[in-house]
Amino acid sequence: MRVHLTATAAAAVRRGHPWVYRDGIAGGGENAVQRGERRRGERAPRAGGAAATGDVVELSAEGAPFLGRGLWDAESAIAVRVFQRTQAPPLDERALAERLERAFALRDGWFAGRDTTAYRLCNGEGDRVPSLVIDRYDRAAVVRLDGGMLAPWLDRLLPHLARALGARGVRSIGLRARASAAAASGDAEAKKLAHLHGPPLPDRLFVRETGVAMEVDLARGQKTGAFLDQRDNRARVRALAAGRRRVLNLFSYAGGFSVAAALGGAGRVTSVDSASAAHASAQRTFRENGVDPAAHDFVTADAFDFLEKAHARGDRYDLIICDPPSFAPSERAKPRALGAYRRLHTAVARVLDRGGLLCAASCSSHITAEDFLATLDDATLERDDLRVRAIHGQPEDHPTLPAWWEGRYLKFVVLE
Ligand code: SAH
Repeated sequence: MRVHLTATAAAAVRRGHPWVYRDGIAGGGENAVQRGERRRGERAPRAGGAAATGDVVELSAEGAPFLGRGLWDAESAIAVRVFQRTQAPPLDERALAERLERAFALRDGWFAGRDTTAYRLCNGEGDRVPSLVIDRYDRAAVVRLDGGMLAPWLDRLLPHLARALGARGVRSIGLRARASAAAASGDAEAKKLAHLHGPPLPDRLFVRETGVAMEVDLARGQKTGAFLDQRDNRARVRALAAGRRRVLNLFSYAGGFSVAAALGGAGRVTSVDSASAAHASAQRTFRENGVDPAAHDFVTADAFDFLEKAHARGDRYDLIICDPPSFAPSERAKPRALGAYRRLHTAVARVLDRGGLLCAASCSSHITAEDFLATLDDATLERDDLRVRAIHGQPEDHPTLPAWWEGRYLKFVVLE
């Protein structure tokens, strides 16, 4: 099956960008595919498009009879995820299994001797297995599929996964339901995890991260259970926390940054999150690390409200971590998101001591590092005593591709 691309989409594919949006298909997606299909004459065109989700398609463009090969998605905005730009080898489960083995072997090296049992085994596009994300939580692995194109492949991939991961001590494999499916169920407390292989997955378990115990809620947690992408930044916070009297962790979720600060020697750590279940998890993590949660504060509140009240009370903090959920899920939402970051940072700066440290994070790929820094400028913070000490991003187990800018979403700015 052939998909003929516009010149712009073809140029992106040549650079190694792994996505073809539907409007990158010359003459509109369905027609182009149907033309190709009629040429091959394999099967009758179906209503709503000739190719089925998960089918292998060959990409071509004006003057380029073969651009590469990818998988078709009949529903998502991304019509094709591109897997290769060479003719050989064929795109089959063996080729995918080899790429996965390469991804896993890299992690073996990266995490050897780091006292870390939770990490991303495969970062989809960034590991050249588009759409497939696999996170390891000690003896469990959680698979997440972005888009639908790999769903029809899962049964064939599973034996490979079970073998390669089993050899590394992973016993159970689960599938994370897609966000849309979980939302459609209308039940926020519903389990988001389906069993794929091995003994049943635990609802909750402790993993280790850079020598720190961390509770992960596989059944109901965010992402695939934890925000693994902040691992190195949590270790950084631990190192920065020594001697800090009062630490504020906003949008604290399961308390990863909080426990890092406490273990790093901070006096009192205040965790703020709108979800009380997250605090319960954070407190179990504190205890597991030998830190008494009663010596710290866990506040269930809206972060903006909390900041307003803290300011009114005259509370000040000498280390603040601010890691909100993505404010800009799309390019269209960007202006509003920048406004929200500005409001948040203005409020944060009001409770930051002179001489204090501010760690501000953004996990939206639509907000560039420069965009984000503009929400931390002197006018926004209403002060002129801070400098950008460091700008960090995501760790090596979340690799990207040079052309795949969307994959580089995490910013972690340290101001002092
Ligand atoms: N910093 C965390 C990840 C944060 S995820 C970590 O490293 O693990 C975002 C969190 O913000 C979620 O736990 C969510 O419950 C919380 N949240 C979302 N909107 C909020 C708001 N307006 N006020 C406080 N918490 C909020």
